[in-house]
Amino acid sequence: MVQLGERQAETCVRLSAPDQIVSLPQPSARLHRRRDAQPAKPPPITANRLLAHLPEDVYLRLLSSLETVPLSYMHRLQQPDEPIESIHFLTRGGCSLTHAVGGQRLVEIADIGVEGCLNINALVGGTRSIATALVHIPGSTAQVMSLTTFQQEIARGGPFAAIMNRYLEVYLETLMQTIACSALHSVQQRCATWLLRRRDRIGQNQFPLTQEYLALMLGVRRATVTEIARGFQNAGVVDYRHRLFVILDAEILQARACECYVRTSERFRTFPH
Ligand SMILES: [Zn+2]
Repeated sequence: MVQLGERQAETCVRLSAPDQIVSLPQPSARLHRRRDAQPAKPPPITANRLLAHLPEDVYLRLLSSLETVPLSYMHRLQQPDEPIESIHFLTRGGCSLTHAVGGQRLVEIADIGVEGCLNINALVGGTRSIATALVHIPGSTAQVMSLTTFQQEIARGGPFAAIMNRYLEVYLETLMQTIACSALHSVQQRCATWLLRRRDRIGQNQFPLTQEYLALMLGVRRATVTEIARGFQNAGVVDYRHRLFVILDAEILQARACECYVRTSERFRTFPH
């Protein structure tokens, strides 16, 4: 049994967070329930795409080692140099992987959702977290596996190890895309891309978000985000009031986003191929 939950709730990050919590739609795939399946019922289904790609017998074997947990909104799940105790496979919502610059400013370096997991460096023997993971979607959930079980499964060299190896490869590709994006694409393009990804994670065009947080994730000044948001608002693309973003025209917003939005979405849509 993985010991999580209460300790995570105690590590509240000191960031400005919106008060509004949207009600989220249920995921299309059902989360597993910790009880024996009846013969007549279909096998448990996981919303995490890594686990969902496993052969059924492998997933059923792992099921007793997976604990489904809610993830508290705006809480840190891990910090750099902390010992890795477990691997989170996201089943709803998402987390930002952030890196602190100058010991204070955070900037988002990756966005992990149901297509992935946290602490992927454990795959290559890592035992300490290398980034801060911040839960940035209300109602996020994960299936959690202890590091010991994860290491044992990797050592088996079966389908689980194969899917995790493929995920690491795609994850590195995504990081390279992010580096190129930060260097070559405008803040407005990156802002539009970020808003679209957020929309996709939540599954709604309306979501809580402060301009302060958005600026932090993009690594720019708040005034820059305010100016961009005002431009989007004047063009009728988004509405923003009371810490709530509403995407009014996703098609135009996507036209203003960089190519990274489509590329990254497509890469994970076709995963593991
Ligand atoms: Zn880009």
